[in-house]
Amino acid sequence: MANSTVLQKSNSGKVNKALKVAVAEGDGIGPEIMAATLKILKVAGANIEPEFIELGEKVYLSGNSAGIEQKSWDVIGRNKLILKAPVTTPQGKGYKSLNVTLRKSLGLYSNVRPVNALHPFVKTHFPDMDVVIIRENEEDLYAGIEHQQTQDVVQCLKLITRPGCERIVRYAFEYAQAYGRKKVTCMVKDNIMKLTDGLFHQVFKEIALEYPEIKNESQIIDIGSAKLAAHPEDYDVIVTSNLYGDIISDIAAEIAGSVGMGGSANIGTNVAMFEAIHGSAPDIAGQKIANPSGLINAAVLMLSHVGQLEIADKIKNAWLTALEEGYHTADVYHESISKKKVTTDEFANEVIARLGQSPKKLPISKLIEGSGTINMKAYHRPQAKKVLVGVDAFIDWQGSNPQEIGNTISTINAYNLKLKMITNRGVKVYPKGLKETYCTDHWRCRFVAIDAEIKSETPVYKPVNYEQVVALLSKLHSKGFDVIKTENLYEFDGKRGFSLGQGE
Ligand code: NAD
Repeated sequence: MANSTVLQKSNSGKVNKALKVAVAEGDGIGPEIMAATLKILKVAGANIEPEFIELGEKVYLSGNSAGIEQKSWDVIGRNKLILKAPVTTPQGKGYKSLNVTLRKSLGLYSNVRPVNALHPFVKTHFPDMDVVIIRENEEDLYAGIEHQQTQDVVQCLKLITRPGCERIVRYAFEYAQAYGRKKVTCMVKDNIMKLTDGLFHQVFKEIALEYPEIKNESQIIDIGSAKLAAHPEDYDVIVTSNLYGDIISDIAAEIAGSVGMGGSANIGTNVAMFEAIHGSAPDIAGQKIANPSGLINAAVLMLSHVGQLEIADKIKNAWLTALEEGYHTADVYHESISKKKVTTDEFANEVIARLGQSPKKLPISKLIEGSGTINMKAYHRPQAKKVLVGVDAFIDWQGSNPQEIGNTISTINAYNLKLKMITNRGVKVYPKGLKETYCTDHWRCRFVAIDAEIKSETPVYKPVNYEQVVALLSKLHSKGFDVIKTENLYEFDGKRGFSLGQGE
Protein backbone atom coordinates (compact mmCIF):
# COMPACT_ATOMS: atom_id res chain seq x y z
CA MET A 1 0.00 0.00 0.00
CA ALA A 2 1.30 3.41 -0.89
CA ASN A 3 2.07 5.74 1.92
CA SER A 4 0.97 9.09 0.65
CA THR A 5 -2.04 10.57 -1.00
CA VAL A 6 -2.09 14.14 -2.17
CA LEU A 7 -5.39 15.96 -2.12
CA GLN A 8 -3.98 19.16 -3.54
CA LYS A 9 -0.66 19.56 -5.25
CA SER A 10 0.85 22.83 -4.15
CA ASN A 11 2.32 24.15 -7.36
CA SER A 12 0.97 27.71 -7.08
CA GLY A 13 -1.18 27.10 -10.11
CA LYS A 14 1.94 27.19 -12.31
CA VAL A 15 0.91 24.36 -14.55
CA ASN A 16 2.21 24.86 -18.06
CA LYS A 17 1.07 21.87 -20.03
CA ALA A 18 -2.70 21.40 -20.08
CA LEU A 19 -3.67 18.53 -17.83
CA LYS A 20 -5.55 15.81 -19.67
CA VAL A 21 -8.75 14.82 -17.92
CA ALA A 22 -10.94 11.85 -18.82
CA VAL A 23 -14.41 13.37 -19.16
CA ALA A 24 -17.58 11.27 -19.09
CA GLU A 25 -20.73 13.09 -20.16
CA GLY A 26 -22.98 10.53 -18.49
CA ASP A 27 -26.69 9.91 -18.96
CA GLY A 28 -29.96 11.72 -18.29
CA ILE A 29 -29.08 15.30 -17.32
CA GLY A 30 -25.37 14.39 -17.55
CA PRO A 31 -24.60 15.87 -20.99
CA GLU A 32 -26.49 19.11 -20.11
CA ILE A 33 -24.66 19.75 -16.84
CA MET A 34 -21.33 18.65 -18.31
CA ALA A 35 -21.65 21.11 -21.21
CA ALA A 36 -22.41 23.92 -18.73
CA THR A 37 -19.47 22.95 -16.50
CA LEU A 38 -16.93 22.62 -19.33
CA LYS A 39 -18.00 25.98 -20.72
CA ILE A 40 -17.29 27.63 -17.35
CA LEU A 41 -13.94 25.82 -17.01
CA LYS A 42 -12.89 26.96 -20.46
CA VAL A 43 -13.76 30.64 -20.02
CA ALA A 44 -12.26 30.66 -16.52
CA GLY A 45 -8.97 29.51 -18.00
CA ALA A 46 -8.69 26.09 -16.36
CA ASN A 47 -5.55 24.50 -17.70
CA ILE A 48 -7.13 21.19 -18.62
CA GLU A 49 -7.74 19.27 -21.81
CA PRO A 50 -10.84 17.06 -21.78
CA GLU A 51 -10.52 13.63 -23.35
CA PHE A 52 -14.04 12.26 -23.70
CA ILE A 53 -14.75 8.68 -22.68
CA GLU A 54 -17.76 6.49 -23.30
CA LEU A 55 -19.43 4.86 -20.34
CA GLY A 56 -22.87 4.34 -18.88
CA GLU A 57 -26.27 3.44 -20.27
CA LYS A 58 -25.34 3.29 -23.96
CA VAL A 59 -22.45 0.94 -23.23
CA TYR A 60 -24.58 -1.21 -20.91
CA LEU A 61 -27.32 -1.52 -23.50
CA SER A 62 -24.80 -2.49 -26.19
CA GLY A 63 -24.36 -5.70 -24.20
CA ASN A 64 -21.41 -4.68 -22.01
CA SER A 65 -22.66 -5.53 -18.50
CA ALA A 66 -19.87 -3.50 -16.86
CA GLY A 67 -20.98 -0.29 -18.63
CA ILE A 68 -17.47 0.80 -19.60
CA GLU A 69 -15.34 0.06 -22.65
CA GLN A 70 -11.68 -0.93 -22.60
CA LYS A 71 -10.85 2.27 -24.53
CA SER A 72 -12.20 4.31 -21.62
CA TRP A 73 -10.14 2.33 -19.10
CA ASP A 74 -7.07 3.11 -21.22
CA VAL A 75 -7.77 6.87 -21.17
CA ILE A 76 -8.37 6.79 -17.41
CA GLY A 77 -5.14 4.81 -16.95
CA ARG A 78 -3.19 7.46 -18.83
CA ASN A 79 -4.79 10.57 -17.36
CA LYS A 80 -5.47 9.41 -13.78
CA LEU A 81 -8.02 12.19 -13.45
CA ILE A 82 -11.73 11.84 -14.20
CA LEU A 83 -14.54 14.37 -14.33
CA LYS A 84 -17.73 12.38 -14.52
CA ALA A 85 -21.38 13.28 -14.95
CA PRO A 86 -23.91 10.88 -13.40
CA VAL A 87 -24.79 7.68 -15.22
CA THR A 88 -27.96 5.63 -15.26
CA THR A 89 -27.72 2.04 -14.09
CA PRO A 90 -30.33 0.17 -16.16
CA GLN A 91 -32.90 -1.64 -14.02
CA GLY A 92 -32.81 -5.41 -14.03
CA LYS A 93 -30.46 -8.23 -13.37
CA GLY A 94 -26.88 -8.52 -14.54
CA TYR A 95 -25.91 -4.83 -14.63
CA LYS A 96 -23.28 -3.94 -12.05
CA SER A 97 -23.15 -0.35 -10.82
CA LEU A 98 -20.54 1.47 -12.88
CA ASN A 99 -19.84 3.89 -10.07
CA VAL A 100 -18.99 1.07 -7.71
CA THR A 101 -16.86 -0.58 -10.43
CA LEU A 102 -14.91 2.64 -11.04
CA ARG A 103 -14.39 3.38 -7.35
CA LYS A 104 -13.26 -0.14 -6.50
CA SER A 105 -11.23 -0.94 -9.62
CA LEU A 106 -9.31 2.35 -9.36
CA GLY A 107 -8.82 2.12 -5.59
CA LEU A 108 -10.71 5.37 -4.93
CA TYR A 109 -11.01 4.63 -1.23
CA SER A 110 -12.17 8.01 0.02
CA ASN A 111 -15.33 9.78 -1.00
CA VAL A 112 -15.28 13.38 0.19
CA ARG A 113 -18.56 15.29 0.15
CA PRO A 114 -18.50 18.85 1.47
CA VAL A 115 -21.97 20.27 2.08
CA ASN A 116 -22.66 23.78 3.29
CA ALA A 117 -25.65 26.06 3.47
CA LEU A 118 -25.84 29.12 1.23
CA HIS A 119 -28.34 30.93 3.41
CA PRO A 120 -30.30 33.07 2.70
CA PHE A 121 -29.74 32.68 -1.03
CA VAL A 122 -30.62 29.00 -1.16
CA LYS A 123 -33.54 28.07 1.05
CA THR A 124 -32.61 25.83 3.96
CA HIS A 125 -33.68 25.44 7.58
CA PHE A 126 -30.03 25.21 8.56
CA PRO A 127 -28.17 28.44 7.76
CA ASP A 128 -25.04 27.48 9.71
CA MET A 129 -24.56 24.04 8.24
CA ASP A 130 -21.02 23.32 7.03
CA VAL A 131 -20.17 19.66 7.10
CA VAL A 132 -17.82 17.36 5.21
CA ILE A 133 -18.81 13.72 4.92
CA ILE A 134 -15.94 11.33 4.35
CA ARG A 135 -17.32 8.04 3.22
CA GLU A 136 -15.39 4.81 2.84
CA ASN A 137 -15.75 3.98 -0.83
CA GLU A 138 -14.71 0.39 -1.56
CA GLU A 139 -15.94 -1.97 1.13
CA ASP A 140 -18.94 -2.78 3.29
CA LEU A 141 -22.09 -4.13 1.63
CA TYR A 142 -20.84 -2.60 -1.62
CA ALA A 143 -18.39 -5.49 -1.97
CA GLY A 144 -21.34 -6.79 -3.99
CA ILE A 145 -20.92 -10.40 -2.85
CA GLU A 146 -24.43 -11.81 -2.75
CA HIS A 147 -25.75 -15.36 -2.84
CA GLN A 148 -29.07 -17.13 -2.75
CA GLN A 149 -28.46 -19.96 -0.32
CA THR A 150 -31.84 -21.58 0.18
CA GLN A 151 -35.30 -21.12 -1.23
CA ASP A 152 -36.03 -18.53 1.46
CA VAL A 153 -32.71 -16.85 2.09
CA VAL A 154 -30.39 -14.53 0.19
CA GLN A 155 -27.25 -13.08 1.67
CA CYS A 156 -25.06 -10.01 1.11
CA LEU A 157 -21.60 -10.01 2.65
CA LYS A 158 -20.58 -6.95 4.62
CA LEU A 159 -16.80 -6.81 4.37
CA ILE A 160 -14.94 -4.38 6.60
CA THR A 161 -11.15 -4.56 6.64
CA ARG A 162 -8.55 -3.12 8.97
CA PRO A 163 -6.51 -1.49 6.18
CA GLY A 164 -9.74 -0.06 4.72
CA CYS A 165 -10.73 1.40 8.11
CA GLU A 166 -7.25 2.75 8.77
CA ARG A 167 -7.08 4.50 5.41
CA ILE A 168 -10.45 6.18 5.63
CA VAL A 169 -10.21 7.18 9.29
CA ARG A 170 -6.69 8.55 8.86
CA TYR A 171 -7.80 10.36 5.74
CA ALA A 172 -10.62 12.00 7.74
CA PHE A 173 -8.26 13.23 10.47
CA GLU A 174 -5.65 14.37 7.94
CA TYR A 175 -8.36 16.18 6.00
CA ALA A 176 -9.59 17.87 9.20
CA GLN A 177 -6.03 18.93 9.98
CA ALA A 178 -5.31 20.20 6.46
CA TYR A 179 -8.52 22.21 6.24
CA GLY A 180 -8.58 23.58 9.77
CA ARG A 181 -11.58 21.55 10.83
CA LYS A 182 -12.10 21.07 14.55
CA LYS A 183 -13.96 17.80 15.03
CA VAL A 184 -14.34 14.36 13.46
CA THR A 185 -17.47 12.32 14.23
CA CYS A 186 -17.47 8.58 13.59
CA MET A 187 -20.83 6.96 12.78
CA VAL A 188 -21.23 3.20 13.18
CA LYS A 189 -23.72 0.58 14.34
CA ASP A 190 -21.41 -1.43 16.55
CA ASN A 191 -24.03 -2.11 19.19
CA ILE A 192 -25.39 -4.63 16.66
CA MET A 193 -22.50 -5.39 14.29
CA LYS A 194 -19.83 -5.81 16.91
CA LEU A 195 -17.17 -7.27 14.64
CA THR A 196 -17.57 -5.25 11.42
CA ASP A 197 -18.70 -1.86 12.71
CA GLY A 198 -16.82 -2.67 15.90
CA LEU A 199 -13.57 -2.79 13.90
CA PHE A 200 -14.33 0.57 12.24
CA HIS A 201 -15.00 2.11 15.64
CA GLN A 202 -11.94 0.53 17.23
CA VAL A 203 -9.68 1.86 14.46
CA PHE A 204 -11.30 5.30 14.85
CA LYS A 205 -10.50 5.31 18.58
CA GLU A 206 -6.90 4.22 17.91
CA ILE A 207 -6.20 6.79 15.19
CA ALA A 208 -7.99 9.63 17.01
CA LEU A 209 -5.26 9.40 19.68
CA GLU A 210 -2.71 10.52 17.08
CA TYR A 211 -4.63 13.78 16.52
CA PRO A 212 -5.11 15.23 20.02
CA GLU A 213 -5.77 18.73 18.65
CA ILE A 214 -8.86 17.52 16.78
CA LYS A 215 -11.94 16.72 18.82
CA ASN A 216 -13.41 13.29 18.21
CA GLU A 217 -16.74 11.70 18.99
CA SER A 218 -18.66 8.58 18.02
CA GLN A 219 -22.34 8.12 17.40
CA ILE A 220 -24.57 5.23 16.51
CA ILE A 221 -25.62 5.78 12.90
CA ASP A 222 -29.38 5.82 13.50
CA ILE A 223 -29.38 8.57 16.10
CA GLY A 224 -26.42 10.19 14.33
CA SER A 225 -28.42 10.50 11.08
CA ALA A 226 -31.42 11.84 12.98
CA LYS A 227 -29.27 14.44 14.72
CA LEU A 228 -27.56 15.36 11.45
CA ALA A 229 -30.97 15.93 9.87
CA ALA A 230 -32.16 18.01 12.86
CA HIS A 231 -28.96 19.86 13.89
CA PRO A 232 -26.45 19.68 11.02
CA GLU A 233 -24.62 22.73 12.38
CA ASP A 234 -23.33 20.53 15.23
CA TYR A 235 -21.19 18.52 12.79
CA ASP A 236 -17.86 19.30 11.20
CA VAL A 237 -16.25 16.23 9.57
CA ILE A 238 -18.10 12.91 9.64
CA VAL A 239 -16.34 9.65 8.81
CA THR A 240 -18.35 6.53 8.18
CA SER A 241 -18.59 3.35 6.18
CA ASN A 242 -19.86 3.03 2.63
CA LEU A 243 -23.61 2.50 2.96
CA TYR A 244 -24.16 4.85 5.90
CA GLY A 245 -22.08 7.49 4.13
CA ASP A 246 -24.11 7.12 0.95
CA ILE A 247 -27.33 7.72 2.86
CA ILE A 248 -26.24 10.55 5.14
CA SER A 249 -24.51 12.51 2.39
CA ASP A 250 -27.74 12.64 0.38
CA ILE A 251 -29.62 13.71 3.52
CA ALA A 252 -27.02 16.41 4.18
CA ALA A 253 -27.08 17.70 0.58
CA GLU A 254 -30.87 17.79 0.48
CA ILE A 255 -31.31 19.67 3.78
CA ALA A 256 -28.62 22.16 2.74
CA GLY A 257 -30.87 23.17 -0.16
CA SER A 258 -30.84 20.64 -2.97
CA VAL A 259 -29.23 17.35 -3.81
CA GLY A 260 -28.36 19.11 -7.09
CA MET A 261 -25.77 21.37 -5.38
CA GLY A 262 -23.18 18.99 -3.97
CA GLY A 263 -19.92 17.91 -5.58
CA SER A 264 -17.76 15.03 -4.46
CA ALA A 265 -14.18 13.85 -4.76
CA ASN A 266 -13.31 10.16 -5.01
CA ILE A 267 -9.68 10.00 -3.96
CA GLY A 268 -7.29 7.12 -4.47
CA THR A 269 -3.55 6.81 -4.24
CA ASN A 270 -2.94 7.32 -7.95
CA VAL A 271 -6.27 8.25 -9.48
CA ALA A 272 -8.98 10.72 -8.52
CA MET A 273 -12.51 11.08 -9.84
CA PHE A 274 -14.80 14.06 -9.39
CA GLU A 275 -18.56 13.99 -9.76
CA ALA A 276 -21.81 15.48 -8.54
CA ILE A 277 -23.37 13.57 -5.69
CA HIS A 278 -26.75 13.29 -7.40
CA GLY A 279 -27.83 10.82 -10.06
CA SER A 280 -28.78 11.21 -13.71
CA ALA A 281 -32.26 12.61 -12.85
CA PRO A 282 -34.07 10.95 -15.79
CA ASP A 283 -37.29 12.70 -14.68
CA ILE A 284 -35.96 16.08 -15.83
CA ALA A 285 -33.50 14.98 -18.53
CA GLY A 286 -33.68 16.97 -21.77
CA GLN A 287 -35.70 19.79 -20.16
CA LYS A 288 -32.67 22.07 -19.76
CA ILE A 289 -33.65 22.83 -16.16
CA ALA A 290 -31.07 20.75 -14.27
CA ASN A 291 -28.87 22.50 -11.75
CA PRO A 292 -25.24 22.13 -12.89
CA SER A 293 -23.91 23.23 -9.46
CA GLY A 294 -23.05 19.73 -8.24
CA LEU A 295 -20.78 19.14 -11.23
CA ILE A 296 -19.38 22.70 -11.09
CA ASN A 297 -18.44 22.09 -7.46
CA ALA A 298 -16.92 18.74 -8.44
CA ALA A 299 -14.82 20.56 -11.05
CA VAL A 300 -13.72 23.09 -8.41
CA LEU A 301 -12.62 20.21 -6.17
CA MET A 302 -10.72 18.75 -9.14
CA LEU A 303 -8.91 22.00 -9.90
CA SER A 304 -7.90 22.42 -6.28
CA HIS A 305 -6.75 18.78 -6.25
CA VAL A 306 -4.35 19.43 -9.14
CA GLY A 307 -3.11 22.71 -7.75
CA GLN A 308 -5.04 25.15 -9.97
CA LEU A 309 -6.20 26.98 -6.87
CA GLU A 310 -6.64 30.43 -8.36
CA ILE A 311 -8.93 29.17 -11.10
CA ALA A 312 -10.81 27.00 -8.61
CA ASP A 313 -11.43 30.04 -6.39
CA LYS A 314 -12.36 32.18 -9.39
CA ILE A 315 -15.07 29.72 -10.46
CA LYS A 316 -16.31 29.13 -6.91
CA ASN A 317 -16.59 32.85 -6.19
CA ALA A 318 -18.38 33.53 -9.49
CA TRP A 319 -20.76 30.66 -8.71
CA LEU A 320 -21.43 32.04 -5.20
CA THR A 321 -22.01 35.51 -6.66
CA ALA A 322 -24.49 34.23 -9.25
CA LEU A 323 -26.44 32.43 -6.52
CA GLU A 324 -26.25 35.45 -4.23
CA GLU A 325 -27.63 37.67 -6.96
CA GLY A 326 -30.62 35.37 -7.30
CA TYR A 327 -29.98 33.41 -10.51
CA HIS A 328 -31.47 30.06 -9.60
CA THR A 329 -32.36 26.87 -11.44
CA ALA A 330 -35.83 25.44 -10.78
CA ASP A 331 -34.77 23.11 -7.95
CA VAL A 332 -33.61 26.00 -5.73
CA TYR A 333 -35.88 28.74 -7.12
CA HIS A 334 -38.11 30.53 -4.60
CA GLU A 335 -40.12 33.60 -5.50
CA SER A 336 -39.19 35.32 -2.25
CA ILE A 337 -35.42 34.98 -2.66
CA SER A 338 -34.72 34.42 -6.35
CA LYS A 339 -34.35 37.07 -9.02
CA LYS A 340 -34.71 34.85 -12.06
CA LYS A 341 -35.45 31.21 -12.77
CA VAL A 342 -32.72 30.17 -15.19
CA THR A 343 -32.03 27.17 -17.39
CA THR A 344 -28.91 25.07 -17.04
CA ASP A 345 -27.11 26.98 -19.78
CA GLU A 346 -28.32 30.38 -18.59
CA PHE A 347 -27.00 29.60 -15.13
CA ALA A 348 -23.59 28.75 -16.63
CA ASN A 349 -23.66 32.09 -18.47
CA GLU A 350 -24.47 33.96 -15.23
CA VAL A 351 -21.48 32.27 -13.57
CA ILE A 352 -19.24 33.15 -16.53
CA ALA A 353 -20.42 36.77 -16.42
CA ARG A 354 -19.20 36.96 -12.80
CA LEU A 355 -15.77 35.37 -13.21
CA GLY A 356 -13.40 37.64 -11.31
CA GLN A 357 -16.11 38.83 -8.87
CA SER A 358 -16.55 37.81 -5.25
CA PRO A 359 -19.73 37.29 -3.26
CA LYS A 360 -20.78 40.21 -1.02
CA LYS A 361 -22.46 38.26 1.76
CA LEU A 362 -21.53 34.61 1.40
CA PRO A 363 -18.02 33.71 2.57
CA ILE A 364 -15.46 34.21 -0.19
CA SER A 365 -13.73 31.02 -1.33
CA LYS A 366 -10.01 31.14 -0.66
CA LEU A 367 -8.33 27.80 -1.02
CA ILE A 368 -5.06 27.61 0.85
CA GLU A 369 -2.08 26.55 -1.19
CA GLY A 370 -0.90 23.11 -0.26
CA SER A 371 -3.35 22.86 2.61
CA GLY A 372 -4.72 19.61 1.38
CA THR A 373 -1.66 17.41 1.40
CA ILE A 374 -2.79 14.21 2.99
CA ASN A 375 -0.09 12.00 4.46
CA MET A 376 -1.02 8.37 4.69
CA LYS A 377 0.94 5.82 6.70
CA ALA A 378 1.70 2.42 5.22
CA TYR A 379 -0.43 -0.39 6.62
CA HIS A 380 1.29 -3.03 8.73
CA ARG A 381 -0.71 -6.19 9.25
CA PRO A 382 -0.70 -7.22 12.92
CA GLN A 383 0.53 -10.79 13.37
CA ALA A 384 -2.05 -12.39 15.63
CA LYS A 385 -2.09 -16.04 16.65
CA LYS A 386 -5.02 -17.58 14.83
CA VAL A 387 -6.59 -20.77 16.22
CA LEU A 388 -9.46 -22.75 14.70
CA VAL A 389 -11.99 -23.55 17.44
CA GLY A 390 -15.06 -24.72 15.55
CA VAL A 391 -17.27 -24.34 12.53
CA ASP A 392 -20.69 -22.95 11.67
CA ALA A 393 -22.34 -25.25 9.13
CA PHE A 394 -25.33 -23.61 7.43
CA ILE A 395 -27.91 -26.17 6.40
CA ASP A 396 -30.86 -25.91 4.02
CA TRP A 397 -33.53 -27.89 5.87
CA GLN A 398 -37.18 -27.81 4.93
CA GLY A 399 -38.61 -28.77 8.33
CA SER A 400 -39.97 -26.27 10.81
CA ASN A 401 -39.31 -27.77 14.23
CA PRO A 402 -35.89 -26.82 15.64
CA GLN A 403 -36.12 -29.69 18.12
CA GLU A 404 -36.27 -32.19 15.27
CA ILE A 405 -33.17 -30.97 13.42
CA GLY A 406 -31.37 -30.30 16.71
CA ASN A 407 -32.01 -33.79 18.12
CA THR A 408 -30.84 -35.43 14.91
CA ILE A 409 -27.72 -33.33 14.43
CA SER A 410 -26.69 -33.49 18.08
CA THR A 411 -26.29 -37.24 17.72
CA ILE A 412 -23.57 -36.60 15.14
CA ASN A 413 -20.80 -36.18 17.69
CA ALA A 414 -18.31 -37.03 15.00
CA TYR A 415 -14.60 -36.47 14.98
CA ASN A 416 -14.47 -34.93 18.45
CA LEU A 417 -16.80 -32.12 17.48
CA LYS A 418 -20.14 -31.46 19.16
CA LEU A 419 -23.17 -29.34 18.34
CA LYS A 420 -23.19 -26.21 20.50
CA MET A 421 -26.34 -24.60 19.19
CA ILE A 422 -28.53 -23.97 16.16
CA THR A 423 -29.72 -20.53 15.13
CA ASN A 424 -32.23 -19.45 12.53
CA ARG A 425 -31.68 -15.95 11.12
CA GLY A 426 -29.18 -15.48 13.94
CA VAL A 427 -31.56 -16.37 16.82
CA LYS A 428 -30.83 -19.41 18.92
CA VAL A 429 -33.57 -22.00 18.41
CA TYR A 430 -31.77 -25.08 19.78
CA PRO A 431 -31.28 -26.02 22.55
CA LYS A 432 -34.03 -24.21 24.42
CA GLY A 433 -35.43 -21.90 21.79
CA LEU A 434 -38.75 -20.10 22.03
CA LYS A 435 -41.70 -21.52 20.16
CA GLU A 436 -42.61 -18.00 18.97
CA THR A 437 -39.40 -17.64 16.90
CA TYR A 438 -40.14 -17.77 13.19
CA CYS A 439 -37.92 -20.22 11.33
CA THR A 440 -36.92 -20.23 7.67
CA ASP A 441 -35.13 -23.00 5.76
CA HIS A 442 -31.68 -21.66 6.77
CA TRP A 443 -30.20 -23.31 9.87
CA ARG A 444 -26.81 -22.37 11.28
CA CYS A 445 -25.37 -25.28 13.26
CA ARG A 446 -22.40 -24.36 15.43
CA PHE A 447 -19.89 -27.13 16.17
CA VAL A 448 -17.04 -26.82 18.64
CA ALA A 449 -14.46 -29.17 20.14
CA ILE A 450 -15.98 -31.93 22.25
CA ASP A 451 -13.93 -30.77 25.26
CA ALA A 452 -14.86 -27.07 24.91
CA GLU A 453 -16.44 -25.69 28.07
CA ILE A 454 -19.65 -24.27 26.70
CA LYS A 455 -21.91 -24.31 29.71
CA SER A 456 -20.34 -21.37 31.50
CA GLU A 457 -21.14 -17.69 30.91
CA THR A 458 -17.79 -17.28 29.20
CA PRO A 459 -17.20 -20.40 27.14
CA VAL A 460 -13.67 -21.73 26.81
CA TYR A 461 -13.10 -23.02 23.30
CA LYS A 462 -10.52 -25.66 22.43
CA PRO A 463 -8.53 -26.01 19.20
CA VAL A 464 -9.88 -28.20 16.43
CA ASN A 465 -8.29 -29.03 13.12
CA TYR A 466 -9.32 -28.67 9.53
CA GLU A 467 -9.54 -32.45 8.96
CA GLN A 468 -12.15 -32.74 11.72
CA VAL A 469 -14.22 -30.02 10.07
CA VAL A 470 -14.05 -31.61 6.63
CA ALA A 471 -14.92 -35.03 8.05
CA LEU A 472 -17.89 -33.54 9.93
CA LEU A 473 -19.21 -31.92 6.76
CA SER A 474 -18.89 -35.24 4.94
CA LYS A 475 -20.80 -36.95 7.71
CA LEU A 476 -23.57 -34.34 7.64
CA HIS A 477 -23.79 -34.76 3.88
CA SER A 478 -23.94 -38.56 4.15
CA LYS A 479 -26.81 -38.22 6.65
CA GLY A 480 -28.75 -36.25 4.03
CA PHE A 481 -28.14 -32.70 5.28
CA ASP A 482 -27.62 -30.05 2.60
CA VAL A 483 -24.71 -27.95 3.88
CA ILE A 484 -24.91 -24.77 1.84
CA LYS A 485 -21.99 -22.95 3.39
CA THR A 486 -19.61 -22.97 6.31
CA GLU A 487 -17.80 -20.34 8.34
CA ASN A 488 -14.78 -21.36 10.35
CA LEU A 489 -14.68 -20.14 13.93
CA TYR A 490 -11.35 -18.65 14.91
CA GLU A 491 -9.79 -17.05 17.92
CA PHE A 492 -7.18 -14.35 17.27
CA ASP A 493 -4.71 -13.98 20.14
CA GLY A 494 -7.27 -15.75 22.31
CA LYS A 495 -10.04 -13.32 21.37
CA ARG A 496 -13.25 -14.68 19.86
CA GLY A 497 -13.40 -13.82 16.15
CA PHE A 498 -17.08 -14.59 15.67
CA SER A 499 -20.33 -13.25 17.03
CA LEU A 500 -22.55 -15.09 19.46
CA GLY A 501 -26.02 -16.19 18.39
CA GLN A 502 -28.87 -14.04 19.70
CA GLY A 503 -29.69 -15.73 22.99
CA GLU A 504 -26.59 -17.98 22.89
P1 NAD B 1 -31.26 11.38 -8.75
O1 NAD B 1 -30.26 12.02 -7.89
O2 NAD B 1 -30.93 11.23 -10.19
O3 NAD B 1 -32.63 12.21 -8.65
C1 NAD B 1 -33.33 12.40 -7.42
C2 NAD B 1 -34.22 13.65 -7.53
O4 NAD B 1 -33.38 14.81 -7.47
C3 NAD B 1 -34.99 13.73 -8.83
O5 NAD B 1 -36.24 14.30 -8.59
C4 NAD B 1 -34.15 14.67 -9.69
O6 NAD B 1 -34.90 15.38 -10.64
C5 NAD B 1 -33.54 15.60 -8.64
N1 NAD B 1 -32.23 16.06 -9.09
C6 NAD B 1 -31.06 15.35 -9.08
N2 NAD B 1 -30.08 16.07 -9.56
C7 NAD B 1 -30.59 17.27 -9.89
C8 NAD B 1 -30.04 18.44 -10.47
N3 NAD B 1 -28.74 18.52 -10.80
N4 NAD B 1 -30.86 19.49 -10.67
C9 NAD B 1 -32.16 19.43 -10.34
N5 NAD B 1 -32.74 18.35 -9.79
C10 NAD B 1 -31.96 17.28 -9.58
O7 NAD B 1 -31.58 9.95 -8.12
P2 NAD B 1 -32.39 8.71 -8.71
O8 NAD B 1 -33.61 9.20 -9.43
O9 NAD B 1 -32.54 7.79 -7.59
O10 NAD B 1 -31.42 8.03 -9.75
C11 NAD B 1 -31.50 8.17 -11.16
C12 NAD B 1 -30.41 7.36 -11.82
O11 NAD B 1 -29.14 7.89 -11.44
C13 NAD B 1 -30.39 5.88 -11.45
O12 NAD B 1 -30.14 5.11 -12.61
C14 NAD B 1 -29.22 5.76 -10.49
O13 NAD B 1 -28.63 4.48 -10.55
C15 NAD B 1 -28.29 6.83 -11.04
N6 NAD B 1 -27.33 7.39 -10.06
C16 NAD B 1 -26.09 7.69 -10.52
C17 NAD B 1 -25.18 8.27 -9.69
C18 NAD B 1 -23.81 8.58 -10.24
O14 NAD B 1 -23.58 8.41 -11.41
N7 NAD B 1 -22.87 9.03 -9.42
C19 NAD B 1 -25.50 8.57 -8.35
C20 NAD B 1 -26.80 8.29 -7.91
C21 NAD B 1 -27.72 7.70 -8.77
